[in-house]
Parts: sequence; C-alpha cells; structure tokens
Amino acid sequence: MSVVNETVLTYLPSKRKQTPSGWLSFNAPCCHHNGHSADTRGRGGLISNPDGGVSYHCFNCGFKASWQPGRNFSHKLRKLLQWTGAPDDIINKVALEVMRENEGVEAKTLIAQLPTFNTVPLPDDAIPIASVVDGTEISEHLYKILEYMASRNLNLDDTDYYWSPSLGYRDRLIIPFYYEGRVVGWTGRSVVPDKKPKYLTEVQPGYVYGLDEQGYNKVFAIVCEGQLDAIHVEGCALGGSEISDQQSMLLNRLQKQIIVVPDRDKAGSKLVERAIELGWSVSMPDWADDITDIGDSVQRYGRLYTLHSIATAANDSPLKIRLRAKKWFT
Ligand SMILES: [Zn+2]
Repeated sequence: MSVVNETVLTYLPSKRKQTPSGWLSFNAPCCHHNGHSADTRGRGGLISNPDGGVSYHCFNCGFKASWQPGRNFSHKLRKLLQWTGAPDDIINKVALEVMRENEGVEAKTLIAQLPTFNTVPLPDDAIPIASVVDGTEISEHLYKILEYMASRNLNLDDTDYYWSPSLGYRDRLIIPFYYEGRVVGWTGRSVVPDKKPKYLTEVQPGYVYGLDEQGYNKVFAIVCEGQLDAIHVEGCALGGSEISDQQSMLLNRLQKQIIVVPDRDKAGSKLVERAIELGWSVSMPDWADDITDIGDSVQRYGRLYTLHSIATAANDSPLKIRLRAKKWFT
C-alpha cells in the first residue's frame, strides 16, 4: 500500500462495490467537471496494484488518472483527489512525499552506477622503494630510479613508490593506483629517456587516481592528466585528457570545488571545454611559456609555489576561462 493508494481510497465515495476482477466501482466524481451529467450508475472504477500503484477509469465521461511508484504525481490525479473532496494540504503532502521518494530512488540509482574496481596485483616481485634499507647494495637499475625521482622532485614519502627487478619493469618507477585503500591498478614510468612505451599501465575503466587523498580537510580537489603531476599537488589524475561520465561522477561525489589543470597542448584545450561543460573550475597559472605541466612547474618553482599558483588562478567563469585559454595554449 502506498501513500497515494491510501489517500485515494480514503476520499473515494464510501458507497463502493468490488468486482471479481479487483475493480472498486462507485459513482464517478469526475463527470460533471468534464461537461457530462453526474454519474449515478457506479461507473467510476479504481484498481490498486500490488506495488502500490493505482488506476482510475471513468466509464461514463472517460476521465482517467493513474500513478505508479517512481512516477510523478500527475495533474490528473490531483484533480481526481480534489473532486473526491480531499483537502489541498493533504494532496500537497502526498505529492511532496512522492517527490521525495522518487529523489531517494534516483540517489540509489546513482550509487548503483558508480564504478567498482577489482583488486589487482602489482608487477612481479615489486617492492616498496622506501623498504630498501640504507646501506643495502643497490642495483644500477634501482639507482637510476632514485636518480630520476630526485631530478623530478619526487620524495619517498609522497606515496608508496614501487620497483621491480623483473625484466620489463626494472627501469620503471611503479606507482600503485589505490581506491579505498586497495591496489586496483598501477603505472610504470620509464626512467630511461626515449624508452617506449613511456608508461606501462594497468587501469580499470572510470578510475580516477588520488581520490583517497581528498580528505574532508581539503576545500578543493586539483585534477590533472598524469599521476606524477597529481602526486606533486596531492591532487587527482584522469590518466589522460578525457573525462568519462564515471570519472566525473566519482569526482563530483567528493563535493569539493574541482580545479582542472590542463596540460599545455591540444588535448589540454579539449579538456578545458569538457571541464566548463561539467561546471568545474579551470586553472591556467601564470607560468613561464616553456612550462607545459605541473611537473615542469615544480621543477622550476617548487611544490609550494606551484600549488599556490594553481589555487589563485582557478576560475569558474566560462568566459574568463576561454579568454585565459587563448594565451595559455599558444
Ligand atoms: Zn466521469
């Protein structure tokens, strides 16, 4: 029994007959409102469905009204209730309750659409780089990794950086992808110049890097393309220049100001348009012309200045963003 069902039954004429097929019949309250003479032959019919829905049908003037769970409270149903003598405040209460229930269902549907991520293993024999004890003899491969980290201003306590001695991985800095504390993917960045592919990545659709780091104390979430850039500013990474619907859902769920920092290339300018479409902020700080992403900026200006410049350049006006983009992308 639904609140709609209950209310309709409360206000129908009390003289009713039940038919074997489940219809209640009574004198229809609708006819003289629709230019017909009033019904005296019990031609109004109402049937209740097990899910709480109701259908009203008048076999005299042809007026119909119905409601099903999940549907809106219709104008016709309101009329029917008014004609049966239900007070307006009761009708409004029912309509409001229907609206609230529907919103609840929508919220649940939204949660059901959120992507889920399976736990995955890191590359064979991967060890946390921070676990390598001082004084241990370090292989030349691991040495190159440490050198790379130093040159890119990456610190051992940024995140759990990994390294694997196995062939194919030993010249890569491995960054685990966490989601709710579990490893659900990873990327291995080559530290050897010009080595192809630059990144070996295992990622699941809809994944956003760095969500676990966006705690309650943060007012905004910086969103960039690459994971290493995200690490520098404790932000999130899309893993590319596109934002899927699932990614936008995960980011919107943070309920923070989202500040997109595009890379300074053609793909980045498309990302700007997508961010505007999503109603997010975009930041294109006043960096030197040869600085093309957060990593470059950190190398030149340091992390603190980079973070500060991103926060102060954030803008949510589409007009101002597009104006700024003209300079930023040339
Ligand atoms: Zn009627």
